[in-house]
Amino acid sequence: MDYQGLLRESMETALAAPARGRSADYIPALAKADPEAFGMAIATVDGGVFGAGSWEEPFSIQSVSKLFTLALALAEGGDGLWRGVGREPSGNPFNSLVQLETEQGIPRNPFINAGALVVTDRLLELTGDAVGAVREFLRRESGNEAVATDDTVAASEARHGHRNAAMAHFMASYGNLRNPVDSVLAHYYAHCAITASCRDLALAGLFLARHGVRVDGSRLLTRSEAKRINAVMLTCGTYDAAGEFAYRVGLPGKSGVGGGVLAVLPGRGAVCAWSPGLDAAGNSVLGVAALDALTTATGWSVF
Ligand code: GLU
Repeated sequence: MDYQGLLRESMETALAAPARGRSADYIPALAKADPEAFGMAIATVDGGVFGAGSWEEPFSIQSVSKLFTLALALAEGGDGLWRGVGREPSGNPFNSLVQLETEQGIPRNPFINAGALVVTDRLLELTGDAVGAVREFLRRESGNEAVATDDTVAASEARHGHRNAAMAHFMASYGNLRNPVDSVLAHYYAHCAITASCRDLALAGLFLARHGVRVDGSRLLTRSEAKRINAVMLTCGTYDAAGEFAYRVGLPGKSGVGGGVLAVLPGRGAVCAWSPGLDAAGNSVLGVAALDALTTATGWSVF
């Protein structure tokens, strides 16, 4: 199969439409991202890696990291995680506080910020170093030792993170954080501020296409846990537009405000598209359009 040609054509289809979106600017360090940057990579379960455009350029993975914290927290601590976080779509923006009071400090799902803070808290409790666990996982799976936290982005986010701090304190008031709020926030910002490329993320997402098996053949998750993570990605992974993403792309996916979107092709591979211009929901305009073009051309949607 001509994977590289497919990626190129998908990107061309995306570029043919006029919409570009805008880079996130609520974290000032992210506003510097080049809105023209655009790349795409696919890693296949049989060992192939293919890319097009800026597929090897590192970017801020932001909420794509939430997929890895979830997988690692489940792997380390098991199903007890779900006592502190739900798994239903929220129907609200990623940084919303509104449901937390009516639902007594239990966030709707692990991919909105409140839920991700709970997952980071549990991973911190289980490993003593949540950001280290995510960074190591990404390095091992991608084979790229250069995957690292961008301290400028983390500091910028910490300085402007009033909402995340408010959510964390609010959940702590319900007893739903086990570590000091400041440590949870620091690990959360640091794993969001990891930089990696489309290539790195496609390789790091392969464990889900392999139904829970890591690059070295060892098992991170049971087949059933991998299935469940894919399901949560499909229903909650792309902010308040998971329905639109399922409609257009039809794959489990996780996006971040750095413009990355990682999608899983169960049994076949993982694909990552990146371009910093975001739509109103926070998803990469070109990234989603390219994934839409890819699954439309190949029939690789899970539906
Ligand atoms: N670190 C970002 C925040 O908490 C993540 C945003 C995102 O990518 O959804 O606002």
